[in-house]
Amino acid sequence: CTFQELGLDRWLVESLSAMAISQPTEIQRACIKAILTGRDVIGGAQTGSGKTATFALPILQKLSEDPFGVFAVVLTPTRELAYQIAEQFEVLGKGVNIKVTVAIGGVDMVSQALELSRRPHIVVATPGRLADHIESSANAVHFQRVKYLVLDEADRLLTDTFAPDLGVIMGSIPKTRQTLLFTATTTPSILKLGNRPQPPFIHICR
Ligand code: AMP
Repeated sequence: CTFQELGLDRWLVESLSAMAISQPTEIQRACIKAILTGRDVIGGAQTGSGKTATFALPILQKLSEDPFGVFAVVLTPTRELAYQIAEQFEVLGKGVNIKVTVAIGGVDMVSQALELSRRPHIVVATPGRLADHIESSANAVHFQRVKYLVLDEADRLLTDTFAPDLGVIMGSIPKTRQTLLFTATTTPSILKLGNRPQPPFIHICR
């Protein structure tokens, strides 16, 4: 099938063509429509399978319809992944004027807090640093209207190390959000959420 058939708007299909991308990958075919229709999903996909675009495309489409406040929070375990995800949002979202902020450790807290207070549309973060911002300057973080929470590499995020940070972050994002969870493997903590086979797969939760 084509990206149009998955329900994506023309401007996004054009963004993809400009990147020489014309055919959806398996995980994109499995997930994009479900995400566009508002479902919470667990997607099983390896890095390199087009996983980032799987969540970025539907989020950008909805954002273009309602560009108000922080729209999506994307959590990922490493700084490198955070930059890569932010870059894909920027490239795919060229057609609309979107602001993406990266909140990761090792970068000055004050300038990052300032960027967060300017209500970017997309915040891509590592959990520790984002939790620090929420705890240290509640008025810098405006998450009341967040519509999407993405856990990228969820198998690496849903561990004891990140649990306290995830608790802080989830507590500051409305429960009405749509949650998108992507994982390359099925670890016991992921399996607790339901029965799933090996990637690529989709599990619709809600
Ligand atoms: P990811 O799995 O998100 O790490 O993506 C790996 C690379 O695949 C990125 O450089 C994307 O731009 C590219 N990509 C995403 N979707 C497609 C597609 N449908 N066809 C070809 N390449 C793609």
